[in-house]
Amino acid sequence: MPELPEVETTRRGIAPHLIGHRVLDVIVRQRRLRWPIPDALRRDLPGQRIDAVERRAKYLLASTAAGTALLHLGMSGSLRVLPPDVPPGPHDHYDWRLDSGRILRFTDPRRFGSLLWQKPDRVHPLLAALGPEPLEAEFDGTYLLRRSRGRKSGVKLFLMDQKIVVGVGNIYAAEALFAAGIHPLRAAGAVSLARYERLAEEIKRILAYAITRGGTTLRDFINPDGVPGYFEQELFVYGRAGEPCKVCGTKIRAIVQGQRSTFYCPRCQR
Ligand SMILES: [Zn+2]
Repeated sequence: MPELPEVETTRRGIAPHLIGHRVLDVIVRQRRLRWPIPDALRRDLPGQRIDAVERRAKYLLASTAAGTALLHLGMSGSLRVLPPDVPPGPHDHYDWRLDSGRILRFTDPRRFGSLLWQKPDRVHPLLAALGPEPLEAEFDGTYLLRRSRGRKSGVKLFLMDQKIVVGVGNIYAAEALFAAGIHPLRAAGAVSLARYERLAEEIKRILAYAITRGGTTLRDFINPDGVPGYFEQELFVYGRAGEPCKVCGTKIRAIVQGQRSTFYCPRCQR
């Protein structure tokens, strides 16, 4: 599943081809994605110039004067900018025909992706309740401390709650907790400010690193567990149950927490 670094890599790849260009036409071959592509988008987007391509959590936001398109990759989706004469395949669900002569094409075998429309000066309900971006300055140890007081749930589940912070998926949560030396089951409300400061720094470092490495490997190097190939060699705990910790040699443990696998070193993480 594309995680925040892959979505950000996609944004950086497509933005130069979209910004300043008009969408001449939206060709929909399969309207039934995770949610149906709204009629308002098909009516209002054609003719509009794209002013910005931003990212919020795992949504890409293409803004125009008439509204903003929200593009989500779902489990298996990808976006490519192509010459206009590339014939569509069975999983190519929509194209945007651009005034540059190219097309933006969305491909998604599992159809969990989406294309939605947000009117000007409105916030789409899917974006309204989201927590801060992990790479923004407002996300720091003080913020984590404030949001965590009184919470008895494990700190890993707390980190993966999109209302607390967006885009820290299972892999990145496990790796950041290891780097910060924090046990994933420790109650979120019992983690000190100093440890949350370290954790926020590690989350930023790991995500920023994954973004810098994501550029060339996006589509081709996802292994069967969903771990991007560029990242696999760098993992300390994720997917390494029973293997020795790279720091202390203790066997990495795997448990199930919130129906997801959690990996940790029982010696390095307290
Ligand atoms: Zn260890």
